[in-house]
Amino acid sequence: MFDLRDLYQQVIVDHNKSPRNCHAMPDATCRAEGFNPLCGDKLTMYLKLDDNSVIRDASFEGSGCAISTASASLMTEQIKGKTMDEAELLFSRFHGMVTSDPMAPAQTEGLDKLAVLGGVREFPSRIKCATLCWHALNAALAGDESVTTE
Ligand code: ZN
Repeated sequence: MFDLRDLYQQVIVDHNKSPRNCHAMPDATCRAEGFNPLCGDKLTMYLKLDDNSVIRDASFEGSGCAISTASASLMTEQIKGKTMDEAELLFSRFHGMVTSDPMAPAQTEGLDKLAVLGGVREFPSRIKCATLCWHALNAALAGDESVTTE
């Protein structure tokens, strides 16, 4: 039988093994470091914004667990071409999904591939792994140099 969980697991494993956009960006227009002391995940987020606040390019580098790496990989893919406002809306949707009641159906509207991370709802200690890259994104957009999940 087709099992959605297996598919989700495969996507996470794939993005952890071969993370997309995982490199430094010397000509980034903004960057921020994120740290999740609970798990030890560390990453640096790089963004290139144009004059209209559109995210033209996004990348990251760092070391972290499978969830934090896969989440950053999936996120950088999703936010390219989006405006700052659109990226913030995506974060609030994503945050809503991963912090919702695990017994309720996940709200995945507009989240596209990011929906594969909905499973972390069942593992509260991993939620910060999944949201670390988003906090770093927010910090970079706000002009802050670093952020921690604690
Ligand atoms: Zn982690």
